[in-house]
Amino acid sequence: MEPYLEGPLRTILLELRCMDFLPGIPPIIKNLERIYQLYGNRPVKISPSGRIYFPLSLREELYFECRRICSPKCCSLVVPIYPSDAERLASYFGISKKKVLVEFCRLNEEEKRFQLKQNPINHRCIFLRREGRIYSCMIHEAKPIACKLFPISGMHEDYVEITYCDGLGYGEGRLIASILANEEVEKFRREERFIQKIREGFGNEFSFRARKVLREFYLGNYHSKEL
Ligand code: SF4
Ligand code: SF4
Repeated sequence: MEPYLEGPLRTILLELRCMDFLPGIPPIIKNLERIYQLYGNRPVKISPSGRIYFPLSLREELYFECRRICSPKCCSLVVPIYPSDAERLASYFGISKKKVLVEFCRLNEEEKRFQLKQNPINHRCIFLRREGRIYSCMIHEAKPIACKLFPISGMHEDYVEITYCDGLGYGEGRLIASILANEEVEKFRREERFIQKIREGFGNEFSFRARKVLREFYLGNYHSKEL
């Protein structure tokens, strides 16, 4: 598989999720104005579902730096878990992968994948810790690849999907593309493809067999030739 950054030049799709929309308040919040200032000379398109398309080149133009000023929106999103995440968490906590899946994850039947559990009261990630006004990640060194890649939320053949976040447009010198240089990206793409295969292979129905294949995959019982 061709390394993602060496593939064709891709454009950026900046996605405004509903968390940024408050009833009666236009979604053009302060930071978005900043992005318009930086990139507003370009033809920006907004789809009816609130998706904003920026024809920017992935390798050159969009900066990002976590501002640490929001009560982390990123940690309120669903965090998908991949087998390599389960493995990392298992060694971090000194427990089995099976226990990681049971204790910290839930199986999303519709998506046919595991995801991190959320706190049932505030619907945020179970690993988000708050001390006064400061939020931090309890598993920072071992956090899932989806958290390491944030705000990148999708990698497609001809575009990159980015979830809107207060850190976009800040951090001069830190290109979005540099996040994709993370050495775990290619492994993550292989694992994502395997999950896609499971989805396609088993259709809408999430049978006992599909469930078993998925669980075995997460427990590391498939080898690279099968991926
Ligand atoms: S990554 Fe973005 S959403 Fe998450 S804490 Fe930083 S600024 Fe907020
Ligand atoms: S694992 Fe850490 S960074 Fe990821 S959502 Fe949970 S608290 Fe946030």
